[in-house]
Amino acid sequence: MRLHWHRRDLRVADNRALAAAAEGEVLPVFVFDPTVLDHAGPARVAFLLDSLDALREDYRDRGGGLVVAHGDPAEELPRLADEHGAEAVFWNHDYTGLARERDRRVESALDDADIDHETFHDAVHHEPGAITTNDGDPYAVFSYFGKKWLDREKESSYPPPNGDALRAGDDDLPTSDDLGFDEPDATLPEAGTEAARDRLDSFCEAAIGEYETEREYPARAGTSRLSQDLKYGTIGIREVSERVAEAADRADGDDVRESIETYREELAWREFYTQVLRYNPEVVTENYSSYENPIEWRESDDDLDAWKDGETGYPIVDAGMRQLHEEAYIHNRVRMIVAAFLTKDLLLDWRAGYDHFRELLVDHDTANDNGGWQWAASTGTDAQPYFRVFNPMTQGERYDPDAEYIKTYVPELDDVDPDDIHSWHELSEDERADVAPDYPDPICDHGERREEAIAMFERARGDEDD
Ligand SMILES: Cc1cc2nc3c(=O)[nH]c(=O)nc-3n(C[C@H](O)[C@H](O)[C@H](O)COP(=O)(O)OP(=O)(O)OC[C@H]3O[C@@H](n4cnc5c(N)ncnc54)[C@H](O)[C@@H]3O)c2cc1C
Repeated sequence: MRLHWHRRDLRVADNRALAAAAEGEVLPVFVFDPTVLDHAGPARVAFLLDSLDALREDYRDRGGGLVVAHGDPAEELPRLADEHGAEAVFWNHDYTGLARERDRRVESALDDADIDHETFHDAVHHEPGAITTNDGDPYAVFSYFGKKWLDREKESSYPPPNGDALRAGDDDLPTSDDLGFDEPDATLPEAGTEAARDRLDSFCEAAIGEYETEREYPARAGTSRLSQDLKYGTIGIREVSERVAEAADRADGDDVRESIETYREELAWREFYTQVLRYNPEVVTENYSSYENPIEWRESDDDLDAWKDGETGYPIVDAGMRQLHEEAYIHNRVRMIVAAFLTKDLLLDWRAGYDHFRELLVDHDTANDNGGWQWAASTGTDAQPYFRVFNPMTQGERYDPDAEYIKTYVPELDDVDPDDIHSWHELSEDERADVAPDYPDPICDHGERREEAIAMFERARGDEDD
C-alpha cells in the first residue's frame, strides 16, 4: 500500500503522483505543516480548507477518504506510513525553496524509516530545467522561453484513480480557528475541482476568444479567474490545456486564434516564473537584477497604510486595493498599477507590497507574486524599464474609461463624473470637496514622484553624475 501526500495538488483527476500510486492500493493524506501555515493568510487558509473538503467528498464518492495530520511532515509521514502499513509515499514536486528544503528532510526521514518514496513533476507542463538556452542554462528573459514553451508538445491529462485502488480512511478537517486564523473578511471563489472546471468551461466557451483585448479591462469578465485553482492544484494544468486546445480547434477567425495563443502565453509566464524561483530561491527577499548601489527606497508607514487601505486619492489604485480586501484578488492590469504606484510614486520597497499581497491574496503564488512585484519595481527578469513609469491617472482612463471598476470599489465616487475621476489630481481642493467630500486628496504628486523615481534608479545604477 502507498500513501499519496497531497500538497498543492488538491484534486483526484490529472494528478501524476496519485495516478502512479493508484497502480497499487493508495491512501491519500494531507499534513497541516506549521511552517507553511506561518506564511499563509486567512483567505488562503479558508480556500485551502474548502478545497480539502471538496477533495474529501470526491474521494468519498469513489469509496475512499482522506487522512489528515498536523505537524512536521518529516515526522508525520513516517508515522502515518507505519500506522497504515504503507511501504511507499508518493508526491508531486513543489518548486519553492521552502518546499524543496522540507522535501529533502522528508526523503531523509523516510529513508531512515526504510520507506520508499517516489516523486513526480505535475504542477507545470515543463518542469524547471526542461526548457533551457542552447548552453543548458535557465532562461533569464521570457521571450525565448515562451516561444519554446508554446511550440513544445504537451502531455495529456491523467485519469482519476479507480475506486478499487482507494483505501478508505477519514479524518475531520480543522476549522480556520483551530489553525489559529480568523475567518477572512473577503468573499472567496468557490473551491474544489468542480468549481474550477465550471470556471474553465465558461471561459473556454466564450471569453477566451476575446481574451487578447478584454483581459485589459478590469470591469469586464475577460480573464479565466483560475489563479487560485492553479495555485492549489484543484485543477490540473494538462486538463486546462486540453480544454484550451479544444477551444482552439473550434476557433473561428484569426482574432480568436490569437486570443487563445495569448492565453496560452500567460500559462507559459506561470511556468517561466516557476523556473526563475526554482533556480533563484533568494528572489523571495532579494532583487533579481543587481544594481551597482542599493536602491534608496523611502520609508513611510503613513504612505504604506494609505496604499494598503485604498486611501491614496488615486482612484484606480484605491479601487484595486479595496478589491484586494473585498475579494482577496485584484485584476492583473490593476495589480500592475498598484505595484507601480507603491514602488514608483510612493517610492516604497516592493517587499512591503509583496508581503501585503502574500497576506491577503487567495491566489498568492510565491513565483508569480514575486515575478509580478519585481517586474513592477524594475528589479526583475523582464522588468519594466526604470524610466517607464506608469501614470495611474492615464492607466485608469484607458482601462476603466467609464470608471465602472473604480465605482464598484470606491463608493465615495459613485456620483462623480468619470472625467472628474480621471482628472482627480488636477481638480482644486474645493472642487474635490464639492464633488466627493469623503474621498481623499492625492497623497503625492505623480509628476514630481516620477522624476524622483528616475533619479533614485539612476543613483542605484551609478550613473547619477554622468
Ligand atoms: C504585482 C503582481 C502580483 C501578482 N501576484 C500573483 C500571484 O500571487 N499569483 C498568481 O497566480 N498570479 C499573480 N500575478 C499575475 C496575474 O496578475 C494573475 O495570475 C492573474 O491576475 C490571475 O487572474 P486570472 O486567473 O483570471 O488570470 P488569466 O489572465 O486568466 O491567466 C490565466 C493564468 O495564467 C497565469 N498568469 C496570468 N498572468 C500571469 C503573470 N503575469 N505571471 C504569471 N502567471 C500568470 C495564472 O496562473 C493565471 O491564473 C501577479 C501580477 C502582478 C503584477
